[in-house]
Amino acid sequence: MTDEEIRLAATTPDERILLLPHCLRPSKSCPGRFERTGLVCPHDCREPCVVGRLVRSALAAGCKGVCIAAGGSMAVKYVAEVRPKAIVAVACDKELAEGVEAVKKIGTGGAPFPAIVVVPLSRDGCVDTEVDESLVMDALRVGSFEPRGGQGADPGQGARLTPGGACIG
Ligand code: SF4
Repeated sequence: MTDEEIRLAATTPDERILLLPHCLRPSKSCPGRFERTGLVCPHDCREPCVVGRLVRSALAAGCKGVCIAAGGSMAVKYVAEVRPKAIVAVACDKELAEGVEAVKKIGTGGAPFPAIVVVPLSRDGCVDTEVDESLVMDALRVGSFEPRGGQGADPGQGARLTPGGACIG
């Protein structure tokens, strides 16, 4: 494990957040809408979508929150508000580098900076991008906790897709 994964493993699920880029959504069929806080998914969205699957899995695993950000600055704002102890972030190389630096500039009041485990996109390009879902879930599960609803849990079985906002926490 990397140093950041070891730090992530030392946290509990409810101290972790997942940051996702909106470019992972299917651009032609996504019924989500953008608000000031990012992408808002309808609760009943049934698109075969990596964003929906990861959001449901993260929430079922007990994560503190998920942000489907429309840019690095929105993700950083979410981190500043939620103050997680650990972050699993999916992004392109450029956003990852800028985001990690920006998170490090957030004041922590003397507390350690959150652990940041990054999962790069497997297909970049700003629209209809791709990520290896298993890598994201492996990162979220570091420390060997089991999700309550399982990967891809149905929203009707305890995991809401987006309870009232793009950034959930
Ligand atoms: S789960 Fe969210 S991002 Fe994916 S298609 Fe549905 S509304 Fe769009």
